[in-house]
Amino acid sequence: MTSKLLIPGPVSVEEAVLVEMGGPVQAHYGPEWTGIYNETRGLLKQVFRTESDVHILVGSGSGGLDAAIGSLTAPGERAIVGLNGFFGDRLAQICEGYGLEVVPVRAPLGKPLQAAHFAEALSRNPDVAVLAAVHLETSTAVLNPIVEIASLGHERGVPVVVDAVSSLGGVPLAMDEWKIDICVTASQKCLGAPPGLAPVAISQRAWEVMDSKPGRSHGWYLNLQTWRKFAQDWGEWHPFPVTMATNNVLALRASLKSLLADGLERRIERYTDLARRLRKGVRALGLEPLTPDDQLAPVLTAVYGPEAVHTGKIVRYLHAEHGLKISGGLGEGLAGRIFRVGHMGPMVGEADIDQVLAALGAFLQEHGREQAVASDEVA
Ligand SMILES: *Cc1c(COP(=O)(O)O)cnc(C)c1O
Repeated sequence: MTSKLLIPGPVSVEEAVLVEMGGPVQAHYGPEWTGIYNETRGLLKQVFRTESDVHILVGSGSGGLDAAIGSLTAPGERAIVGLNGFFGDRLAQICEGYGLEVVPVRAPLGKPLQAAHFAEALSRNPDVAVLAAVHLETSTAVLNPIVEIASLGHERGVPVVVDAVSSLGGVPLAMDEWKIDICVTASQKCLGAPPGLAPVAISQRAWEVMDSKPGRSHGWYLNLQTWRKFAQDWGEWHPFPVTMATNNVLALRASLKSLLADGLERRIERYTDLARRLRKGVRALGLEPLTPDDQLAPVLTAVYGPEAVHTGKIVRYLHAEHGLKISGGLGEGLAGRIFRVGHMGPMVGEADIDQVLAALGAFLQEHGREQAVASDEVA
């Protein structure tokens, strides 16, 4: 049975996207293909809200993050990294993988990072090579204040890398206005396409930083300069260094056209309405969301499970009995305590949220019955 995906990526995709994914394989070079590729990059620029270069890396979102960090830095340099969940930790691990010294800026799990803490870290480390933070920390559904954080980095001349893997296309984000230097996303979340591609947007300033460090060791595939070089030298024919995942690009082009035809704002409004509906519904069942309403993430909701119930049980029940795929918690103290419902794709609607709520209600009833039986047995 294929189940309805209500996880924070991958998302169920629209029919037009599937058709492209299932179409004939074509050559990844030549003027016709180059036109399709460049059109897709143009659509991405609109979603990133940037005039900067966009490259479409073949790989997952983490590949794009790896490319961003590795391209901007040399081993031994320092990186300020925001840590308030699983994906912040991953950013730090990527930095460590490149031999960087990580200056952590922490917030408790479930709470947003604070711009003031970044200001302090920048003052204490004026020579830092990069500042990196996650926009929507998918492990907890917490939105970090990237506008303030990025503007601090920009003021101090520190390049800012943002992990927008789970936010771009479903949460307000404006790369140029917010002064983000490298913004990374992935095809399989709010962009509404299958997994496999990592769109990366790179500011002029980020290129200047890369070009000012010719001695750094950064490999080839994930060196963004390699992607720029091919776009420049082979632009008319083959504007990327490797065999492009052509069907994935066609699928992404279709999903981006749908996103832009609906309008970013309208999508975000729709997701926000779904988030409110879900919050209202879980509260009616006696459950509480992890984040307060004024900090809701439009595309993802984390909810505390009932006292003394491992939320893995809820996740398994919804899948086995109702064909609904939601996620459990990630991270110390939250694994087993929360469950997460993704509403980040165009295929998710009110009926799906209502189905999740009905299934949760059924779970709670059964759980209540089991408890009653158990206490009878004790008595
Ligand atoms: C999903 C996700 C990632 C990882 O993306 P992959 O495509 O699995 O590499 C990174 N950061 C955030 C915030 C995510 O939600």
